[in-house]
Amino acid sequence: MSQPIRVRFAPSPTGHLHIGGARTALFNYLFAKKQGGTFILRLEDTDVERSTEASVQMILSDMKWLGLTWDEGPEVGGEYGPYRQSGRSAIYESKIMQLVEAGKAYFCFCTPEEVEVHRLAAAEKGEQLKYAGTCRTLSLEAAKARAAQGEPYAIRFKAPQEGETIIQDLIRGRVVFDNTILDDFVIVRTTGVPTYNFAVVIDDAAMKITHIIRGDDHLSNTPKQICLYQALDEPLPEFAHVPMILGPDKTRLSKRHGATSVGAYAEAGYLPEAMINSLALLGWAYDDKTTLFSQAELEAKFTLDKVSKNPAVFDLRKLSWMNGQYIRSIPEPEYIERSIEWLAQTGIIQLPLDDIKQNYVTQVVKIVRDKYKLLSELPEQVEYFFKEPELEKIDEKARNKLESMQENPDLFKALHAKLGMLKSFFVSAQEVALKDFIEEQQVKFGVLAHPLRVCLTGRMQSPGVFEIMEILGQDVVLERLAAGLRLVGINI
Ligand code: GLU
Repeated sequence: MSQPIRVRFAPSPTGHLHIGGARTALFNYLFAKKQGGTFILRLEDTDVERSTEASVQMILSDMKWLGLTWDEGPEVGGEYGPYRQSGRSAIYESKIMQLVEAGKAYFCFCTPEEVEVHRLAAAEKGEQLKYAGTCRTLSLEAAKARAAQGEPYAIRFKAPQEGETIIQDLIRGRVVFDNTILDDFVIVRTTGVPTYNFAVVIDDAAMKITHIIRGDDHLSNTPKQICLYQALDEPLPEFAHVPMILGPDKTRLSKRHGATSVGAYAEAGYLPEAMINSLALLGWAYDDKTTLFSQAELEAKFTLDKVSKNPAVFDLRKLSWMNGQYIRSIPEPEYIERSIEWLAQTGIIQLPLDDIKQNYVTQVVKIVRDKYKLLSELPEQVEYFFKEPELEKIDEKARNKLESMQENPDLFKALHAKLGMLKSFFVSAQEVALKDFIEEQQVKFGVLAHPLRVCLTGRMQSPGVFEIMEILGQDVVLERLAAGLRLVGINI
């Protein structure tokens, strides 16, 4: 039987969850789902100074917002916990001693200044900036004695000095590293805290991770990690290094290209479905044509062999196009629920809604559904349904439309009267009435509709006037038309 698939996303909680991290999380998640594997979340908080609880909370909530739920990890626990490195010190200590006792790692008493002096000397000679190996040959007894006297020490890994370390990367293919580039790298700092390269290997081995899928900025760490696996006699996992993400100008994605944190996109009114779809396409493609994939489709289709070696370009315009597609395609009840939530958050409406208001808001958000791309644009789209348009402040074009009513005041007074007489204000009833009215008055529909739209909405563009009138209701329509007329000197 083949081994059960176990993958992990291992963010360092030193800031927001970024686009790159979210893409790594998603690829791991999809890889696990596709194969009935386990997706693990592990917080790598060994960088004590930069790790914060606030960041932990942001990462967890952004992961949940994206729908990337983890099978093992913080909050849910699991067989291989704890899932925060700060809680795993005892595990690291035993492994450190195992390496030290076996002569595969050693105490290093060099001060940072001494290490620096050697590095500078090496740099001057044009040699590689490696640790000079001063403490490599200290006997364990001597080292233990110095440590016992309180002399500060780090622990270094005795890296191989010759040969090659080969990675059979599932995305990059075969990558060969010459071992002469390997330094005797520090695995435990003088503070007693293990370094990333050490803790990650101990944890991945202990958590029985089968595939390490991560950004290719970690490719250069991989030979060190492989050497550690070998030193610990642990089976090697498979590695898959995903290409980096660039902005549209082909430079590394950064703040210059716009927001880079997932939370900022949530706040800007993007839907998690659109984010997931866009993130999936950062380096992965199913075929040349298909761009829209639901999470379920991605879970069924994702394979690493379709991940490109080449950098992916993150394009905000594509993302907002994608978001528009999702605003229109998510199931209607969900669309309504999220729109209402958004309008409440921005103070356009107050919750809870009674049945009448619920019905009103539902109609409103439905008629603008194909008019915008981001939820953050929704309040502006629907504002006039919740407060009277400020006709004194409208732009010049709209003002001209209002003033066009002065050319035929009686026509608009008659329109007001006609609308006032309607027994039903449904679109169908209005249509019949207005058709008759146009024939009687011998005018074109636009002559009436454009100024009427401005009176009702304060703008030149909107959904259909009849639909708007049905929602606003007869009283409001009559009031707004009268107010528009008054403003251009026509009194009813
Ligand atoms: N904590 C590391 C990071 O956030 C994880 C790298 C890895 O996946 O090994 O970059």
